[in-house]
Amino acid sequence: MNPWLAKSVVLLGSIVMVVIRAPHGKRSRTVKVVKSWKGALETALLTLAWIGFFLPFVWITTHAFDFADYALRLLPLVAGTLCIALGLWLFYRSHADLGTNWSITLEVREKHELVTQGVYRRIRHPMYAALLLYSLGQALALPNWIAGPSYAEVMLLLFAFRVGPEERMMHEAFGADYAAYRSRTERLIPGVW
Ligand code: SAH
Repeated sequence: MNPWLAKSVVLLGSIVMVVIRAPHGKRSRTVKVVKSWKGALETALLTLAWIGFFLPFVWITTHAFDFADYALRLLPLVAGTLCIALGLWLFYRSHADLGTNWSITLEVREKHELVTQGVYRRIRHPMYAALLLYSLGQALALPNWIAGPSYAEVMLLLFAFRVGPEERMMHEAFGADYAAYRSRTERLIPGVW
């Protein structure tokens, strides 16, 4: 199959993701940060996340990763496109539900409220679930051993290293309310984990 199909899916998905986030990123700069837990680890994880997000564009626009290409097949392309679409929907919903409480890193903002409704009703990390789903879709749809899984690898790292500190931060900020929320929800998959 023509790799331009995969290139179009990945490019369109990335553009939609940037468009969903843009207004939240812009608005979040206007809401004061009361406390930040951003350390060296967070900086390293965010840098890696940008690199992982960027590598597919290098694959789309240059020949740098041609040596790691493999043949595109219909089934992974369709499965990947579905994961990307579902991931983008969940990304959109989690941003809408978090509103001004969202930060790209570990921060508590002025008038920060604990969100427990919408897509946060059953899982505590729908945005990370969305990014993992999206990045899995990219790994399936993009027929290159380097650029395909690059975002999934860094998202797994980010999730593994961030989720513990984030939950401790939320517990420190919201005390018993967060403990109760944590006890009635799962991290990523409703009813499972
Ligand atoms: N882990 C969440 C949010 C990711 S954005 C998810 O995957 O959906 C990270 C920031 O969101 C954190 O720094 C924290 O400030 C904020 N946050 C996380 N969970 C929250 C919640 N339930 N209510 C309000 N803010 C939350």
